[in-house]
Amino acid sequence: MNNKIIFLDALPIMQRLMDNGYDAYFVGGAVRDYIMHRPINDVDITTSATPNEIESLFDHTIPVGKEHGTINVVWQGSNYEVTTFRTDGAYLDHRRPSEVFFVRDLYRDVERRDFTINAIAMDHQFQLVDYFEGQQDIQAQIIRTVGHPKDRFDEDALRILRGLRFQSQLGFTIARDTYHAMKENVADIEYLAIERIMIELEKLLHGSHVSQVFASLSDLNIWHYLPYFREVDMRAIRINIPLTLSQFLAIVMYCTHHETGLKQLKRSNDEIKAAQHLVHALKAAQQLDSKRSLAQFVYDFGYHTARELLALQDIFEVNNITQPTPIIFNLQIIEEVFQSLVITNRTQLDINGKTLMTALASKPGPWLKTALRSAECAVVQRKIPNREQEIIEWVKTNVKIP
Ligand code: ATP
Ligand code: MG
Repeated sequence: MNNKIIFLDALPIMQRLMDNGYDAYFVGGAVRDYIMHRPINDVDITTSATPNEIESLFDHTIPVGKEHGTINVVWQGSNYEVTTFRTDGAYLDHRRPSEVFFVRDLYRDVERRDFTINAIAMDHQFQLVDYFEGQQDIQAQIIRTVGHPKDRFDEDALRILRGLRFQSQLGFTIARDTYHAMKENVADIEYLAIERIMIELEKLLHGSHVSQVFASLSDLNIWHYLPYFREVDMRAIRINIPLTLSQFLAIVMYCTHHETGLKQLKRSNDEIKAAQHLVHALKAAQQLDSKRSLAQFVYDFGYHTARELLALQDIFEVNNITQPTPIIFNLQIIEEVFQSLVITNRTQLDINGKTLMTALASKPGPWLKTALRSAECAVVQRKIPNREQEIIEWVKTNVKIP
C-alpha cells in the first residue's frame, strides 16, 4: 500500500517517544484516509508525553500550540504535529474549551474528538485502536459524532460545519441523530470566528460531493447565521460541481445582485478581487457574438479567466445564467484566439499617451484615455495594424479630439 510510506517516515518519531516510556499513536484524518485508501495530507501523532517532554526528546521543535499540547517536530525536513493526549475542560462559549488537561491515557484523548471516523488511533505496528466503531462507520459511510451529538455540538459549533465538510469530501451520509442535532444547534454558529467558518466552507465547496451537501446548508438554515450570506437568498443558488471560494462568491454575487459586503467574510483582498473579476467577465461574456469580440474578451479578462468561465458552464446553466454560444465560446477557439493575439497588454501598443499627444499636437485631457482605449481595441480586433502611423490615423477619424 503506497500510503503506508508516509507513516513509515514518521515511525522514528514514534519510536523515540516509545523508547522513552511514552505511548504514541497516529490519529485523526491521516488514519481515516489511510483506511479509506485516500491521499493523506499530514500525519498527526498523539502521545502521553507532555509538551515539555516532547521538546526535550527532539532537537528541532516548534511550539505551535504548546498551551493546547501541540508541538511541531521537524524530522528529516518534514513537519509532524505531535500532540499530548488531552481532555477538554468546560466549553463556555460554544467554540473552545476554557482549559485543557493533559492526560496519560489514549481513551480520554480520542473521546474528545469530533467524529467516530476521526477518532481511530493506529500504533507503530499499524494496529488500529478504535474505541468508537470508527471503522464500522467508515465501512457504512456514516458521519457520526463521538458521544451524544447535541452535547458535542453544544461544546463546539464548528463541528457542525466540519461534519458537512467531511460529507462533501468523502460522500458519506450524516447519521440521522447527528444531523438532527446539527439542526437544533445551528444558531450557535454565530459564536464562531468567521475566519474558521470560511475555512470549512472553502473545503466543503471543493469537495467532490458538494452537490448533495450544498442543499443541506439551506436546509439547516446555516446561511442565516453568516454575515453577507444572510442578506441574500441562498436558496436560489445551486452548486453542482466543486468550486473555489472565489468562484462561489462570483456566482452568489451574480445571482443575487448583491456585490457589496464581502469584506465581512474577512478573506484576502486578492480573493475578493478574483471574485469581482469573474463577475465582470461573466457579464461581458454574455455579449460575445464573434471571434473578434472573443479576442477582445480574452485580451481584457485574460486566458485563464476565459478557461475558467468555460469550465463553469454547467453550473451557470443550472443557475439560469445566460452564456455565450458554444459556437464561438469553446476551448479550441479560445486557444486559437489567445495564441494569435496581436498584443497582450497596453504597453505593447505601438503608441503611448505622450507620443499620441505629440502627434496630434493636443493637450492632455479625458479624450486621451478614450483615444488609447479605442486604439487598443482596434488593434486587438485587428481593425488596424499595431503601427504608430495607422494608430494615429485611426484616432484622428474615430475619436473626438478637443
Ligand atoms: P484533514 O484531512 O482536512 O486535515 P482532519 O480530520 O485531519 O482532516 P483536522 O482539522 O486536521 O482534520 O483535525 C485533526 C483531528 O483533530 C481530527 O481528525 C479530529 O480528530 C480532531 N479535531 C479537529 N477539530 C476538532 C474539533 N473542532 N472538535 C473535536 N475534534 C477535532
Ligand atoms: Mg489534518
